[in-house]
Amino acid sequence: MGSVTVKGLVKQYSDVPALKGVDLNIREGEFYALLGPSGCGKTTTMRCIAGFEDITEGDIYIGAQRVNDVAANRRNCGMVFQSYALFPHYNVFENVAYSLTVRDLYRGSYGKRVKSFARLMSKKLGKPPKELYQKVMDALQTVELDHLAERGVGELSGGQQQRVALARALVMEPAVLLMDEPLSNLDKKLRNTMRTTIRTIQQEIGITTIFVTHDQEEAMSMADRIAVMKDGEIVQQATPTELYGKPLTPFVADFVGSSNIYDATVIDGRQVKINDQFVVHTNGVTENGEAKVLIRPEGIKILREHSESRNVIEGKVTMSTYFGPNIRYDVNVGEATVVVEQEFEPGIPVYDQGDHLFLHIPEERVLLL
Ligand code: ADP
Ligand code: MG
Repeated sequence: MGSVTVKGLVKQYSDVPALKGVDLNIREGEFYALLGPSGCGKTTTMRCIAGFEDITEGDIYIGAQRVNDVAANRRNCGMVFQSYALFPHYNVFENVAYSLTVRDLYRGSYGKRVKSFARLMSKKLGKPPKELYQKVMDALQTVELDHLAERGVGELSGGQQQRVALARALVMEPAVLLMDEPLSNLDKKLRNTMRTTIRTIQQEIGITTIFVTHDQEEAMSMADRIAVMKDGEIVQQATPTELYGKPLTPFVADFVGSSNIYDATVIDGRQVKINDQFVVHTNGVTENGEAKVLIRPEGIKILREHSESRNVIEGKVTMSTYFGPNIRYDVNVGEATVVVEQEFEPGIPVYDQGDHLFLHIPEERVLLL
């Protein structure tokens, strides 16, 4: 029903190759994030799935149906945009009722067909039929805005407006919900609340959802699976934990979470010389030669005294930054910089610029990319 399959999707805008062969397999009921920097092709992918763009090459399936030649309004996709796109002169109820009314009028559900959208828009909606009223109120209840049904959308907060936009998409009972950076216009605190709201609603309804964001934390905290995009291509498709623990490329490693990424030389399969500065052992096995190495900052332990165990190196703190729950140290080891993050707990030693310390990098935290 609501699965989405994209095969070899290419989209060329005159001389801009926006998508260069995108493959996606989104399962029914899945919350799927498309993550990538600005300009990598996220919106274009969504617009192709929704049917707002002619595609250059490839196939798109919603459920079992190939929808390449199906018009946007017949694809059964609900869309929510960053810019809400609400009708400013309608109240909350009317905004949600509008598309449903138009669709149902055209399907003949409410008697006489209305000839022009313009007329409907200018007349407002009048008293809605009971069934339509109930559907709209149910959608508003889902987003917890039923008590504000009569309120003009101009008198709502950003978060409330975005919930109206969500209700407006959901009231159509789409097979697939497409959300393009829906939280980008909200302040950080509200964004965090809305993440939970959206995820909870998605799970309750069980609707297949594709969620576009450039914010890795948002993708990691909300999605069942994530596709990381770069320059019109999917670089990796994985669960949040796989993506974090086993990034396939330096780009993914750097984009998802903070990282120490180094040029390295593999000396004998299990020993790696980093930036020509220090040698560590790794669990990973690879051929000798050049490689990229990833060490997550929170995987490094700080020792107060030297220890004879493997993978202990000495360094000097060049910067210490306090982030509430975490402390971050930039540590110079020879000429390489190693970023270390430690959870802050009362009583732990705190280091300042200029302090010497020892770092223990567990072998399993030295990842070869
Ligand atoms: P994202 O949503 O990831 O920021 P987009 O999908 O909007 O990226 O854009 C991908 C690429 O396609 C960009 O290089 C952008 O400039 C280009 N692009 C998008 N829409 C158009 C258009 N209508 N005409 C020409 N180029 C476009
Ligand atoms: Mg975009």
